[in-house]
Amino acid sequence: MPREPKLQTIFEIISVGYELLDGRVVNTNASWLAGQISSLGGRVSRITVVGDDVGEISSAIREAMRRGADWIITSGGLGPTYDDMTLQGVAKAAGRRLALNRRALEMIKKRYEELAREGVVESAELTPPRMKMAMLPRGAKPLENEVGTAPGVLLRAGRSWIVCLPGVPSELQDIFLKRVKPILEKKIKKIVSADRWIHVKGVPESVLAPRIDELRTRAPGLYIKSHPDKREGTSFIRVYLRIIGRRKQACERVLDEIEEKLIKAVKELGGEILKPEGEAG
Ligand code: ATP
Repeated sequence: MPREPKLQTIFEIISVGYELLDGRVVNTNASWLAGQISSLGGRVSRITVVGDDVGEISSAIREAMRRGADWIITSGGLGPTYDDMTLQGVAKAAGRRLALNRRALEMIKKRYEELAREGVVESAELTPPRMKMAMLPRGAKPLENEVGTAPGVLLRAGRSWIVCLPGVPSELQDIFLKRVKPILEKKIKKIVSADRWIHVKGVPESVLAPRIDELRTRAPGLYIKSHPDKREGTSFIRVYLRIIGRRKQACERVLDEIEEKLIKAVKELGGEILKPEGEAG
């Protein structure tokens, strides 16, 4: 069977940090990112949480690459301390070495000079922990962090783009909105959708189910869900149809065909259609 064309740009989010696994911190970064990506038209197919462990991080990234994620977004573990290991994990998964990135170093230097002027840190000296944040996988591009100090990272690995963002929510959000979103707006495949409800009376859901299953396979991007309801011994089913595609008109045309087939099936099964017109859910 030919492979169904991938209609949406697929994202996976990998959240890094033991504090997420033991319940100390709620993973708000993942839900915030998922909301942003969905509203841009992307589809988040999986959210994974791993501890601060190079092996765990790299295998989570490799698995996401193997599944064909177009974009893999990590959060957390970019800081200066020994347990911030995300970039080591990314480098391992992508088969790249970590190397000092001049652009990242300039960004970090500039931030510490600002923080020293503001009196937040004593000196702007580039100590080894600060230099560590400029060690990026070869070929990666640093993404300026105007709120904190660790730059975000953008890297092409195989067929996936990898974006690494810091764990601190205000930093993650600032880098995403200013540096990542403008790129995604250009790269995410544009999709449209169409939907409608069909109200069926007098056919039990178990009887209609095989006919619905048959329709499900009729078009790529089609979603059908039946919502049963039994009143005074009579079966009522609200059937929801939704399709995503490239053009609205084509989506509506497919839904017309599916609706026609569904109405025919309901009649053959001795039921009736209460509201054949489209209706907002
Ligand atoms: P830093 O430069 O501050 O070290 P980092 O990228 O190393 O940044 P982490 O040390 O992993 O980030 O996390 C910093 C803080 O951000 C955590 O203590 C936690 O409060 C918060 N945080 C981390 N991950 C998440 C998350 N997924 N959702 C919400 N908050 C998070």
